[in-house]
Amino acid sequence: MPNGQRLQRGPMMTGGTPLRSLDEDELLGRILPAFPGTDELVVPPGDDAAVLRTSERTIATTDTVVLGRDWLDAWSSGADIGHKVVAQNLADVAAMGGRPTGVLVTLVADPDLSIEWVLDHVRGLAEACAAAGVAVLGGDLSSAPAGVVMVSVTALGRLDGEPVLRSGARAGDVLAVRGSLGLADAGLRLLRADAVGRHPVAVARQRRPEPPLEAGPAAAVAGATAMLDLSDGLLRDGGRIARASHVVIDLDPQALAADVDALTDALGAEAALDCVLAGGEEHSLLATFPAGAHPDGWRAIGSVREPGEGESAGILVDGHVVTHTGWDHFRAT
Ligand SMILES: [Mg+2]
Repeated sequence: MPNGQRLQRGPMMTGGTPLRSLDEDELLGRILPAFPGTDELVVPPGDDAAVLRTSERTIATTDTVVLGRDWLDAWSSGADIGHKVVAQNLADVAAMGGRPTGVLVTLVADPDLSIEWVLDHVRGLAEACAAAGVAVLGGDLSSAPAGVVMVSVTALGRLDGEPVLRSGARAGDVLAVRGSLGLADAGLRLLRADAVGRHPVAVARQRRPEPPLEAGPAAAVAGATAMLDLSDGLLRDGGRIARASHVVIDLDPQALAADVDALTDALGAEAALDCVLAGGEEHSLLATFPAGAHPDGWRAIGSVREPGEGESAGILVDGHVVTHTGWDHFRAT
């Protein structure tokens, strides 16, 4: 379904054929053929469990999205949600310095959910995994009370070297980003304002994040000292690195000016700055490197130093504490 053709705003995709009209084997028979395999997949889904060839160190991570909390059917198709939940998970694998190899998917849904939505969702999951060279290892289906639709993805990944933690940033390092800043939040704001035409690229990024997956393991090889993916905003996520590493990170506003400018026409200068500093769901990679060591494609946006006398670890903008905090699942209710 093209992104432009929005579904009616409503709590859940009904209409079409309800899930309850198929038994689990029939439904799996329509889902499993869509899922990609890889050379590392030794036993594909369909038996009691899949078997995956992997490295001595395996990365494992999981993420769950819930209709009405994490997406609205009015704004995102089933395929968009498939892309997004896979991208969120694979970004976490990349942010450890690893390469994703497989995912497990669990769908818990009201039996009145339409099969058409599920198959569209499966198509999005399969596309995102195939594009990343990741096998779908299987999953689970379960029914839920009226109106509930939840998708949980667990990703596995290979780690061929040392993991890149949040706690390794050192005084003298440079803070660098790989990928965009603020686009996904800008897209969310435009969806809320019913103004998607003002920046279609931002809206597309909100629906389908594009984490730079290859850059994660490459950064590890290049000597990244700390890394994460930007899920909750530059200030919040940068603050996590700073606190875990007991350092002060100072963002350079000059280095962020182009990101802000790129959103100013669509949103105004103040909201554009908010998106760049605090916008969530971007899934770009944020890392620290020894000075001068950040690889091509990464942009230096700040510096790392020891906290001063009586100063706490944390993140500053041009030497100042700022109040934006980024998306918080619990405080934003
Ligand atoms: Mg993450």
